[in-house]
Amino acid sequence: MTEKKAVIIGAGLTGLTTAFYLKKAGWEVKIFERNNRAGGSIFTHREQGFVFESGPNTGLVSHPDVADLLTQLSGHIQIEPLGESVRRRLVWKDCRWYALPHCLSDSLRTPLFKWNEKLKLLMGTMRNNQYITEQFTAGNNTRPEHTVDPFIHAIYSGDFHGLLTKPNQHKNNKKEAIISSRLKNEKRHVKIDRQLFFINGGLDNLVNALVKNIGEDAFYFGTESLQVYPKEKGFSVQYDSEGHLWNMEVPVVISTIGAGGIGKTFPFLNAHEKDLISNVSHTHVIQAVAGFNKWRGIPLKAFGGLVPNTENRNILGILFPSSFLKDRAPGQGALLSLFLGGMHNPDMINMPDETIKRMVVDELRCMLLTPEEPDLFKIFRHHYAFPLYGDNPDTRLETIINIEKQFPGLILAGNMRDGIGMAHRIGQGAAIARNLTLQQY
Ligand SMILES: Cc1cc2nc3c(=O)[nH]c(=O)nc-3n(C[C@H](O)[C@H](O)[C@H](O)COP(=O)(O)OP(=O)(O)OC[C@H]3O[C@@H](n4cnc5c(N)ncnc54)[C@H](O)[C@@H]3O)c2cc1C
Repeated sequence: MTEKKAVIIGAGLTGLTTAFYLKKAGWEVKIFERNNRAGGSIFTHREQGFVFESGPNTGLVSHPDVADLLTQLSGHIQIEPLGESVRRRLVWKDCRWYALPHCLSDSLRTPLFKWNEKLKLLMGTMRNNQYITEQFTAGNNTRPEHTVDPFIHAIYSGDFHGLLTKPNQHKNNKKEAIISSRLKNEKRHVKIDRQLFFINGGLDNLVNALVKNIGEDAFYFGTESLQVYPKEKGFSVQYDSEGHLWNMEVPVVISTIGAGGIGKTFPFLNAHEKDLISNVSHTHVIQAVAGFNKWRGIPLKAFGGLVPNTENRNILGILFPSSFLKDRAPGQGALLSLFLGGMHNPDMINMPDETIKRMVVDELRCMLLTPEEPDLFKIFRHHYAFPLYGDNPDTRLETIINIEKQFPGLILAGNMRDGIGMAHRIGQGAAIARNLTLQQY
């Protein structure tokens, strides 16, 4: 190894995880972020006694690297034990909530499934102790509209065909295949429990712990103008700060920004490559947070409720964070997080705040029987909430891999490939770091 130096573009979860593991492996890392804070989509807010997230709320320990990262940071963060209510998930049907069944007998009784769906369950699709919904998401053809449909519309706000939530495995890429098999061997002993995780006090504590471990000196904020150019060996990274043009030369550049920013940041890529990479559409999601100092609606003993598209409501779903997390709302109060818009209502994102608030308050009154307006109300518009990988994700991935081969030391990562959830992002960041420690530049 000649020089263990890398520039990472983007200080979201992917960039931070990559930087954390590279730093541990003895690399010098510099992270460039266009905003004035680290965390990207992760953003915890504290106001009027409420603690709420405007991005992700909970992650899933679905990948060995998630378990590993949480263990590595255990001196800096505390995993919040989730309340019993987390297991209870509601689905809206015909003007009332029903709990999603967790066992065969419940699923045969529930009004959420049609008789033919129940028959299919009985005929042997039930395996192990998986959630009933996972049984259906695993199969391609049967998709009960009151279970799988709301998971897709409310959680991912997309549709089955446009969205691949699982990482792409590119079988033809030998290097990736070798690395993933090494990972399997290395990580055999790491426990993955597929449990939800939440960080005590807010997800920004995870971000803060990562920043602290990486070292604050490694971060450069407000670097939107950053551009990368290939040199004979390595790359020249340039950005404008207060009228001064900075230039840095490094052997490795790792991009973790969204597909839309690739063209501007890497001007040397040809137009065709840029088009193929940035051919990712995104869902537009509104997240509305409603805080009540004193809760007078129906009991909120659940993770939240999902609303199937066929119910024709104005919301996609509601999370009840104060029912399963500590100190989210004052005293007898409640904190709710509602999702609106998504694939079927993309224009909702352009509605004025007052219209959104009226819709939400009306829905809360009808669906949770709240007699009064919320004491705290916030709207967050996510124009690029989730990438929809489209019908031909392999072409994009092949283009990326070819560019990486053409320019050794350049890594085009982030959520335009390999999955959209926090676990995927952590997995990708950790894999990049491991991969780099095996290579020479
Ligand atoms: C509303 C919402 C709810 C979600 N809920 C969940 C959930 O419950 N569970 C879950 O697992 N996942 C959830 N996710 C997904 C999760 O947030 C993401 O998978 C993860 O945070 C993405 O991390 P990232 O670093 O890849 O991208 P980002 O967080 O988008 O970070 C990319 C960073 O790059 C920076 N950047 C962009 N362009 C440039 C540039 N030109 N120069 C420098 N910096 C640049 C951005 O400012 C940003 O900080 C949710 C996402 C959203 C939006």
